[in-house]
Amino acid sequence: MDKKYDIVIVGSGISGMSLAYYCAMEKLNVLVLEKSDSMGGSFTTVNSDDYWLEMGAHTMYNSYGNFIEIIEGCGLKEEIIQRKKVPYKAFKNGKIRSVISQFSIPELLVSIPSLFSIKKDDQTVESYYSRIVGKKNYKKFFQYMFNAVPSQATNDFPADILFKKRNRRKDILKSFTFKQGIISIIHAISRIPGIDVVTGAGVLSISVGKDSYQIKAENKEIYNSEYLALAAPVNVAAELTRSFVPEISEEIKKIESVLTDSVGVCIEKKDVNIKEVAGIIGINENFYSVVSRDVVEDENIRGFVFHFEPGKLDNPSKIEFICKVLNISKDKIKDTFYVQNTVPSFKLGQKSIVEEIDTLLKGNKLLLTGNYFSGMAIEDCVSRSKNEFSRIKY
Ligand SMILES: Cc1cc2nc3c(=O)[nH]c(=O)nc-3n(C[C@H](O)[C@H](O)[C@H](O)COP(=O)(O)OP(=O)(O)OC[C@H]3O[C@@H](n4cnc5c(N)ncnc54)[C@H](O)[C@@H]3O)c2cc1C
Repeated sequence: MDKKYDIVIVGSGISGMSLAYYCAMEKLNVLVLEKSDSMGGSFTTVNSDDYWLEMGAHTMYNSYGNFIEIIEGCGLKEEIIQRKKVPYKAFKNGKIRSVISQFSIPELLVSIPSLFSIKKDDQTVESYYSRIVGKKNYKKFFQYMFNAVPSQATNDFPADILFKKRNRRKDILKSFTFKQGIISIIHAISRIPGIDVVTGAGVLSISVGKDSYQIKAENKEIYNSEYLALAAPVNVAAELTRSFVPEISEEIKKIESVLTDSVGVCIEKKDVNIKEVAGIIGINENFYSVVSRDVVEDENIRGFVFHFEPGKLDNPSKIEFICKVLNISKDKIKDTFYVQNTVPSFKLGQKSIVEEIDTLLKGNKLLLTGNYFSGMAIEDCVSRSKNEFSRIKY
């Protein structure tokens, strides 16, 4: 008879891998099934020879308490390095500009005291922050700054989903990465005894037997488990749950999703003249943001990842555009990477959708985790996995 796992987890992003970590710590045998040929999902560190570049998530903070506990549990604390403090810039009308030149300081000073009187509850990003930074400032600059965070328009996001107050770990660097990039944590978790990861094994369908789940994957295997966790993007979770928990699928479907469309380039240091930047915010541009590797200096190479608005430019036009922003010719690009990810698009009412999903999940051996519950930040994903894990009783 085929091996039966205690739990099969669908998706090897940080949501799936943090859940795998919690399960392995309790000695469960865990199988993670990943559609892609590599692990990590939105943790997408790519390599150009010895140089690495983050095509997806790039920054971790000392306020990510649950995540830091996993880093420590994996023995990865020694790999933590500081992200160098370099400025953010804006890009408008074909030019890189200072951020401070993009908004009115008097309007900001008049508006900012509202911070102490206006609550975020039931407010959208637009309605809340227009009052905090001033209406004109919001339209001119801040909306673009907020869009740069999840690489999509955020006007209609619930105001309380983007920036959350969390306790900080004073013994950890305020914002950090790992010596070999963010993917290190995914690899470290995958090496824990009791966790098997199979890549190139996109899950096609799920059925529920008497006391187990049967999970059919693209590699033609059928896997069995007592518990099942979906840690795939929101649209995939909606699709996979449709056949066996249609009422949960209907709730998940209420959460929309968008694609992120990222192009990364590596260039010899001597060939690029723009000053060091942490990132560039696109103001009414083809891209939401550029994330630079200047925060972890390399002797020879600089790297920039452009998060484009999907569907606006074809690939050759994207490269042309990148050359324009960085003021380089095409032949100076040493390496190019293309990555797309699916991320949720939040609206007011998100909390009640999650409450309904959680009510329907009660007593079920199905766990749902991902970045479409309380927020997209790494700590939101890990916290969701931790809560879901607490429903497993062994
Ligand atoms: C460009 C970008 C930059 C970001 N920057 C930051 C940052 O700096 N700091 C921060 O805190 N957060 C950041 N985030 C947010 C955060 O990184 C993500 O929300 C988080 O990594 C999502 O993890 P996840 O595991 O929920 O989903 P994902 O990472 O999307 O993982 C889902 C996995 O499921 C797999 N999958 C899909 N379908 C199937 C299937 N049928 N069968 C099996 N597997 C399947 C996918 O291939 C993928 O590997 C960023 C996100 C993006 C996209």
